Amino acid sequence: MKKIIIGNWKLNLDHLQGIQLLQKINYSLPKDVEENIDIVLAPSHTSLRSLQTVISTDKLKIKLSSQDVSMYKEGAYTGEVSSTQLEKLDISYSIIGHSERRTLLNENDEIINQKLKRLLEQRITPIFCFGEPIENRENNTYLEFIQEQLNEGLKGIRKDNMNEIIFAYEPIWAIGTGQVATIENIIEVLDFTKNLISSKSFYNQEKSRFIYGGSVSPDNSEEILNLNIVDGALVGGASLDSDKFVKIVNSIKL
Ligand code: PEP
Repeated sequence: MKKIIIGNWKLNLDHLQGIQLLQKINYSLPKDVEENIDIVLAPSHTSLRSLQTVISTDKLKIKLSSQDVSMYKEGAYTGEVSSTQLEKLDISYSIIGHSERRTLLNENDEIINQKLKRLLEQRITPIFCFGEPIENRENNTYLEFIQEQLNEGLKGIRKDNMNEIIFAYEPIWAIGTGQVATIENIIEVLDFTKNLISSKSFYNQEKSRFIYGGSVSPDNSEEILNLNIVDGALVGGASLDSDKFVKIVNSIKL
């Protein structure tokens, strides 16, 4: 299974700064990286067009993701960006269900489920984020919480579409806190998720990807990314620093 490293730039960098960081990262990546690892960057919507132009003109080894997508196809939804618009820009991936949107912008499982459907219709790979808050970790109800998020978020998704989704386990208490989940935490939840997904789909082990996100850095990436069960990482803070991001990529043993 080819591993994937996704950099989530969040609400940082204008498009010129984005181009600079993209070029720096591309320059420092191993020459044959795309044969072994998928590298994806998720800048703000306003940077997607310029970064895509640089990637296609200079034939870079990096793909782009949006940080979100509208649940609507088109119409009177001011400020929204549709999956069709992203597809026209040749955007390959989109993050959905990020905990910052769930908690700060009140996105619920029903909205995320609609977003997932819009992406699958356009053949854009969804990066479906899920994960528990600290309370559920502490009172030992995190697996029930995750099961509910997955059951609701995946409602009505065709079995053969399930393998198109990248499942990103991102415990909320680990995001941006420096408090990375333990190896045992990661293995337990990804194993649980894989079992749940395989019971809902025509599961294809060669295609399905299950990744981890939450304070991944060069200090912990080697241990996490070389686990068999981990197919990659969603990286926030460390993706804004080209040295750290490339070190994370290079920590994967090929
Ligand atoms: C994220 O925002 O998806 C994330 C994992 O952030 P960080 O790496 O900064 O914890």
